[in-house]
Amino acid sequence: MKRSLTERLNQEGAICAEGFLFEMERRGYLTAGEFVPEVALEYPEALKNLHKDFQHAGSDIVEAFTYNGHREKMRVIGKEDLLEPLNRAALKIAKEVANDVPEGTEPNLMAGNISNTNIWNPSDQNSQKEVRGMFEEMIGWAVDEGADMLVGETFYFAEEAYCALEVMKSSGLPCVLTIAPMGENIMRDGVTPLDTCKELEQLGADVVGLNCFRGPETMLPYIKDIRANVKCHVGALPIPYRTNEKQPTFFNLDDYDNCKCSAPHGRTFPTALDPLFTNRYEIRKFMQDCYDIDVKYLGVCCGANPMLIREVADVMGKKPPAMRFRENMSNHFMYGTNKRIPEHIKDYGDKA
Ligand SMILES: [Zn+2]
Repeated sequence: MKRSLTERLNQEGAICAEGFLFEMERRGYLTAGEFVPEVALEYPEALKNLHKDFQHAGSDIVEAFTYNGHREKMRVIGKEDLLEPLNRAALKIAKEVANDVPEGTEPNLMAGNISNTNIWNPSDQNSQKEVRGMFEEMIGWAVDEGADMLVGETFYFAEEAYCALEVMKSSGLPCVLTIAPMGENIMRDGVTPLDTCKELEQLGADVVGLNCFRGPETMLPYIKDIRANVKCHVGALPIPYRTNEKQPTFFNLDDYDNCKCSAPHGRTFPTALDPLFTNRYEIRKFMQDCYDIDVKYLGVCCGANPMLIREVADVMGKKPPAMRFRENMSNHFMYGTNKRIPEHIKDYGDKA
């Protein structure tokens, strides 16, 4: 028995762990900056392990790691011939993990994925045709490999998002479409994030919302606005970094003043964001705020790790295996409350 995406969203909600680029890079299997998901071909076990770790922490959806695995990016690195093998390998790995769940639990949903192509040009129909072709081939492979649903994400042109959704819809599968407005707080073609989501709903998306670029503080106001103005399900997948009103996205996020070791490329994005991480409680609060207003397609994007996904699962009342290892400070040697902990050790806690 496996419930559909909509059934899950109408009940307790669904979690989609993301952030594969950053996490595979941190684990040593992917190049920062270039950000091509060749790991599906080169180290399939490493990618499978990451999916398994997210599943263990409560992710319901195994999203095939084809982000940036599109024809244009493969051309940039001179490996266009690997395009189809890479897509199929990533989809097969995701499918395998989605069906291989802990005993007695419901199989996960496998999601095919397309995203921002970075060649969309509002005033050039040829570029738009090319983008559509890239979407069509990737959606074709996703359907072929047995995707249960489709995710289109990180679009910063409204029209590119509409184009993606049109192609996705032709498959007949449930469609999630999340956008990623950049620092000017508007889509690059001048449409507001809210109007973009309203149009996506009209075009038939099952879930609309935001993913990536923004941390909890600069994403939540948009999510509230979208929730209040659409009838379909809403999705929210922030990055776990402390973006703020002056610096709404992680692209131009300053480090703290006292950092003496700035990155050679002059910005914290993408390799020196570590000190700007949100903690698990900030992510938890964001997820709770979303859940309270019936935003039930949740996840974490670039920067995500299983610890954060477990927080999302807890907010939804899910009990994934990783829940067993949630914090238990009561047995800490110095800050615990367990009666075996000696007073003279506890007393030293504030000086430690
Ligand atoms: Zn992301």
